[in-house]
Amino acid sequence: MHHVVIVSGCDSSRQEQGAGMVSYDLVVVGAGPTGATVAEIAARTKGWRVLVIERRSHVAGNCYDELYPGTELLWHRYGPHYLRFTSTETMSYVGRFTEWIPGNYVVKSNVDGVLVPMPINLETIELLYGRAPLTEELARELIQSDVVPVEHPANSEEFILGRAGRKLYEKLYAKYTAKQWGRSAAELDPSVCGRVPIRFDRNPYYTDSPMQVMPRDGYTALFDRMLRSSPLIDVVTDVDWLQERVHGTAATVFTGPLDEYFGHRLGPLPWRSLSFETSVENRPWFQPCVQVNYPGDEPFTRKVEVKHVTRQVSTRTVVVTEFPADCGEPYYPVPAQESRKLFADYARLADAERKSRQVFFGGRLGTYRYINTDEAIENAMKLAADLA
Ligand SMILES: Cc1cc2nc3c(=O)[nH]c(=O)nc-3n(C[C@H](O)[C@H](O)[C@H](O)COP(=O)(O)OP(=O)(O)OC[C@H]3O[C@@H](n4cnc5c(N)ncnc54)[C@H](O)[C@@H]3O)c2cc1C
Repeated sequence: MHHVVIVSGCDSSRQEQGAGMVSYDLVVVGAGPTGATVAEIAARTKGWRVLVIERRSHVAGNCYDELYPGTELLWHRYGPHYLRFTSTETMSYVGRFTEWIPGNYVVKSNVDGVLVPMPINLETIELLYGRAPLTEELARELIQSDVVPVEHPANSEEFILGRAGRKLYEKLYAKYTAKQWGRSAAELDPSVCGRVPIRFDRNPYYTDSPMQVMPRDGYTALFDRMLRSSPLIDVVTDVDWLQERVHGTAATVFTGPLDEYFGHRLGPLPWRSLSFETSVENRPWFQPCVQVNYPGDEPFTRKVEVKHVTRQVSTRTVVVTEFPADCGEPYYPVPAQESRKLFADYARLADAERKSRQVFFGGRLGTYRYINTDEAIENAMKLAADLA
């Protein structure tokens, strides 16, 4: 990392002691996928000097991966990341900084001791209804007979009951959703469970995208390469921008939590967090696939063994158990009525900030949206293009 001096476009009196003066066209807050993408594009296409400020001790944001302490095994410190693209353009942009390995993303759900595929597919329906083999037509009929139709579902419970029927809702979603969000499915927006498709074939993969991959050398290496791609980019870690509030002379891109930027002026936006319990197992494999969900009474939601995807060869394996929590890192915006309204109020402040001071809000935290890594990068590519 370079040693830098911070000189604000708005307040050029601030500067660090003991080093030369540097002025930055663009200040980017956060070195995650959004920040790394905006910085790389601004430096390469506009020739801007860019300062990236990151408050953690590392780059790559929540995608950060590293060797698990005391082992040769890669793990994802802030939760597992399954990368898939919907746009070939985005994938080929990111592909400039990494080679790929296939994304072996297979998820199962442990229902009363039986592992069933997630998302729901023909096999899930066979196992949970105890009827096999099923054709697509028979499976559709079974689900249809159990569905509780609602024309305009107002919440997640109605949405899933209307789509998957009562049995699948109760076995797979009701308790899982309550654990994940700390509130019942009836209190959450319909969109929450709408991210998971129901399939009437035997596709075992977690996502439908034909572009499911993982960076060969990991995510940290990928975003580090982006940030090192130009001498015009400086990166400082372990610095909280909120303590400095320095701006670029042309623009500032803020990818931290939106409510923090405004000092929680309108009240805190609701975020959901996770705590992780890890164990190193002295056996080659712990479970049959990368992720097993626990939709029952256990206090945790899933167990993840990322070695299934990294394909590292070892006699040991690292297993991470996730416990949803209200406190901790802001991971998931809570998709409910009251947060939508509060977000809309913050969005108005953000709009004014953009117009008056050229501050742009991006990324998952800055736009208070549950977006995947590929969407974060895609949005960042658009944001970088919009910077004047
Ligand atoms: C548990 C979990 C699992 C996920 N699984 C997947 C998955 O399987 N597939 C997928 O595609 N996506 C997944 N995601 C989403 C993915 O992590 C995000 O889409 C992506 O990280 C968004 O990038 P970002 O740069 O916008 O935000 P982040 O990665 O959150 O990076 C923002 C950075 O800004 C820094 N920052 C914040 N405030 C300040 C400040 N004041 N000063 C300095 N720095 C600051 C933070 O420390 C952070 O490093 C998951 C997310 C979580 C939480």
